[in-house]
Amino acid sequence: MRQLLLTDSKLIYSLVQLHPLRGAGPERSGTELPDETGQGRIQLGQLFGASDAFAPWRKSEVVPGPSARTRDDLRAYVRQTAGTYHHQVGTCKMGAESDVDAVVGADLRVRGVEGLRVADASIMPAVPSGNTNAPSIMVGERASDLILGR
Ligand SMILES: Cc1cc2nc3c(=O)[nH]c(=O)nc-3n(C[C@H](O)[C@H](O)[C@H](O)COP(=O)(O)OP(=O)(O)OC[C@H]3O[C@@H](n4cnc5c(N)ncnc54)[C@H](O)[C@@H]3O)c2cc1C
Repeated sequence: MRQLLLTDSKLIYSLVQLHPLRGAGPERSGTELPDETGQGRIQLGQLFGASDAFAPWRKSEVVPGPSARTRDDLRAYVRQTAGTYHHQVGTCKMGAESDVDAVVGADLRVRGVEGLRVADASIMPAVPSGNTNAPSIMVGERASDLILGR
């Protein structure tokens, strides 16, 4: 395994800003991230990569590269390479009775349809500030409690 890592593999850090920017939509560019956000995280990745713990596997830094060490270098790299991605949630969002866009209420029942609940990421009224798998499991757990009357 170690031989395989040394000869064929790359170690990739994926730096993700989890808290969505207010009003951010797919049209917003990653270059609008605050400079410090990306720059600080790249530095952290470079520190990890240069640490003794990675010494047996480390060959050389590919990007941004060993010559990129100043704030300006790192900011330029972030501006060139940053992008956005979105967790698609909320096609069946939960909301108050008065919310005309809300499909389910707090009991996960679909309004206007007898005997139907929705229990998945689609009920999230907004993209959470993090990944969506754990919140989806939480929705499922809550649904089972509701169905069992707990
Ligand atoms: C590439 C990728 C990477 C991800 N990485 C992460 C991560 O690292 N961390 C994280 O927290 N989240 C991650 N997510 C998000 C996470 O997987 C989802 O938020 C989560 O799985 C949503 O759960 P869900 O139950 O709403 O939907 P799903 O998990 O999509 O479940 C829907 C289920 O319904 C089934 N289905 C669809 N139509 C029908 C039908 N007509 N009849 C019967 N069954 C049907 C599907 O087969 C599927 O099993 C990732 C998602 C993707 C796509």
